[in-house]
Amino acid sequence: MDIINILPDSVANQIAAGEVVDRPAGAVKELLENAMDAGATQIDLVVKDAGRTLIQVIDNGSGMSDSDARLCFERHATSKIQRADDLFAIHTMGFRGEALASIAAIAQVELRTRLHDSELGTTVVIEGSHIVSQAPTVCPRGTSVAVKNLFYNVPARRNFLKRDSVEMSHIEEVFRRITLIHYDIAFTLSHNGRVIYDLKAGSMLQRIAGLYGAAYKERLYAVEEETDMVKIRGFVSRPEYSRRTRGEQYLFVNGRFIKHPALSAAVERAYNDLLPERTYPSYFIGLQVDPSRIDVNIHPTKTEVKFVDEHALFAILRSSVKRALGQFSLATELSFDTPEEFNIGPAPKDYVPRQPKISFNPDYNPFRASGAQTRIKLEEAEGNKTVECRNELVDSPEREDPTRPTAASNTCLQVQNRYIVTAISSGIAIIDQQRAHERVLYDRLIQRGSQALKQCQTLLFPVNCTFTAADAELMEELLPELKSYGFDISALSRTTFVVSATPASLKDSELQSFFEQLLSDYKGSTMQKYSSRSQGLCLSLARQMAVKSGTVLEQEEMHQLVADLFACPMAEMSPTGKRIITIVKPEEIMR
Ligand code: ADP
Ligand code: MG
Repeated sequence: MDIINILPDSVANQIAAGEVVDRPAGAVKELLENAMDAGATQIDLVVKDAGRTLIQVIDNGSGMSDSDARLCFERHATSKIQRADDLFAIHTMGFRGEALASIAAIAQVELRTRLHDSELGTTVVIEGSHIVSQAPTVCPRGTSVAVKNLFYNVPARRNFLKRDSVEMSHIEEVFRRITLIHYDIAFTLSHNGRVIYDLKAGSMLQRIAGLYGAAYKERLYAVEEETDMVKIRGFVSRPEYSRRTRGEQYLFVNGRFIKHPALSAAVERAYNDLLPERTYPSYFIGLQVDPSRIDVNIHPTKTEVKFVDEHALFAILRSSVKRALGQFSLATELSFDTPEEFNIGPAPKDYVPRQPKISFNPDYNPFRASGAQTRIKLEEAEGNKTVECRNELVDSPEREDPTRPTAASNTCLQVQNRYIVTAISSGIAIIDQQRAHERVLYDRLIQRGSQALKQCQTLLFPVNCTFTAADAELMEELLPELKSYGFDISALSRTTFVVSATPASLKDSELQSFFEQLLSDYKGSTMQKYSSRSQGLCLSLARQMAVKSGTVLEQEEMHQLVADLFACPMAEMSPTGKRIITIVKPEEIMR
């Protein structure tokens, strides 16, 4: 009995759509690319409800004839290639002829288009792959594609969409990936009637400034190189503006955004030891190579490409970035406008500096594990201040609790500024200080919520933090919760926030990168694993505020940390599931 059917087009298109348009941002990418392929010089992207209700792209490109306006929705309908050979000389963004067919299978699409030399245009309405109507229309030259109610007939997909702010941040990312390199085209992006970007045609540097703010220009060095194999043009961040996340790293080949771990490594390698540990440079680099030397035909949405000359490209890219960094950093050292310095001002006239005095306990015996208090007092004439603990988050009311486990009263030894070693009843405990502190802070934040970090400090000078438009929206969302944890933060403009108080122990200079990390955790998978948002937020806060490996700890601090850790129900594992404690048992010690 025969059981094989050929699927109807509408079903086949829906399946294909799953690959090309997995979320609104996928449709945005395809429509913007089509507009560029049509030679447009002005492209407007209009979005409603993060693309759920409407994604519309309006261009002033070539437009289509009446019959092309219907044909473009067929599968494998393309004007961009004709033969297999053409695949090796691709000069357009699209070439598969799949995008419009896919989009029309999962949305209600209205296409209005008019050729440059026609009087009238045409409007085609198509829903779920079926053409509903076509009629002549009066419309401007060029094309407008309005995609309404995306996934209206694929409820599973529609239900999988994330919150508007998340979907919108994907759309903005797609928008940046396209507009950064096509700086000769003017673009606008508006969301729910509000203009987010209005980018004029210009240079790459102007485009970067248009997307990230004018101040960004100061942070970059230009990279330029031209060889037979490749032409490189772009900008890399000055080392002092490196970031804690790999956020703004954009590589383009022949006008297409790509992800290429090897070439990214080439750029990072060029910075060598110029960057603080675990920070990353930002870069915007366009490569121009002969289209026959690359293969872009790997996956419709994935951004991977293969290069024939990968090794050579690696070397060229690395050396040109290195040269840019070297050349310019020398230049800045020779310039005389030194950065502003913190000015403390002269001391009052009758001020007599006083010598600080140190008192200590002469009876203290470090080998007596009797809970003897080690305390160094720094006496000042104004009053006695006891310097006990540098990290105030460790400081907590349980400090004097007599029921604390015996381990805490033992002497602790810090090894490699990373592990705390201490005797416990069942042997020797080796404790990872950073993970331990993460656990303690995390539990405290979860249990006591806003009370946990209430020891906040008012900043002497409020700090301004600036974000991309998408990140700023997320910040706005997080504000109430951040406030409850002791941050005093408010919006200054749409993308700038002013921070005037923070929980103790955060440095002013680190605030920008602190929030960037927080947002990137919030957007990324770290937080989505967690059932509630506040849980994810607590995790991110705990991880960032925890004392880091490499920090020297005082006895007091170690005691406190060990005591607090043993009071946690889940002392063995850090909140991200890493092991905190290793115990060496008496038998093993004997052996
Ligand atoms: P591809 O871009 O791979 O060719 P698409 O499905 O995206 O496939 O588009 C099909 C065809 O429709 C294109 O080849 C092009 O001829 C035409 N087209 C699509 N969008 C536009 C536009 N904005 N302006 C002019 N022509 C367009
Ligand atoms: Mg296309």
